[in-house]
Amino acid sequence: MSLEQNYQDILSQLPENVKLVTVSKTNPAEKIKEVYNLGQRAFGENKVQELLEKQPVLPNDIEWHFIGHLQTNKVKYIAGFVAVIESIDSEKLLKEVDKEASKNNRKINVLLQVKIAKEDTKFGLTVDQAKEIFNDYLNGNYPNLEITGLMGMASFVDDKTQIREEFSILKNLFDELSELKPLKTLSMGMSGDFLLAIECGSNSVRVGSAIFGSRF
Ligand SMILES: *Cc1c(COP(=O)(O)O)cnc(C)c1O
Repeated sequence: MSLEQNYQDILSQLPENVKLVTVSKTNPAEKIKEVYNLGQRAFGENKVQELLEKQPVLPNDIEWHFIGHLQTNKVKYIAGFVAVIESIDSEKLLKEVDKEASKNNRKINVLLQVKIAKEDTKFGLTVDQAKEIFNDYLNGNYPNLEITGLMGMASFVDDKTQIREEFSILKNLFDELSELKPLKTLSMGMSGDFLLAIECGSNSVRVGSAIFGSRF
């Protein structure tokens, strides 16, 4: 299928309340432009260097979502333009984002990345760390940013019961924190599991290879 067919095919499977973040990592700017021309505005990248190469050559109204592990010393390079940092995985990183947002005279929207997968290869906060950080945020500790939601990745396994369990951990935390302050975004689901994620309450999916083809 063509890029356009893949894109329309994914869109057609998303309920109206679910946002699509097109994960463009490893794909060149021309391909991103093709999807942009179909109307897509939210794109996800996971490497600062790569994002810095693409951002200047692509339209200004692209909403860039940073979705990879972010080193604190690199926050400054993206703080001026990034729309959402979905991958806040430490308090130290959040403090740095708050500082850089202030320097850029803007508020930065962020998601707390929670480690829900049983595999221990992935980054992310524990549920307790996320709660603690959210409380600090409610107490005014991070005046230059908005925590607008949560992000998580399930294990790469075939066992749907396990994936469902992992997504449910995040959905429960989302509901719990939303009682303290309403959260907007529950970002979970990728090419292989986005339908399951939506069943589990996701309202923002990050889809790459199902649109651009597999990465090599
Ligand atoms: C690469 C990536 C995705 C997209 O993965 P696909 O399987 O290609 O859809 C989603 N989220 C994160 C955090 C990623 O790094």
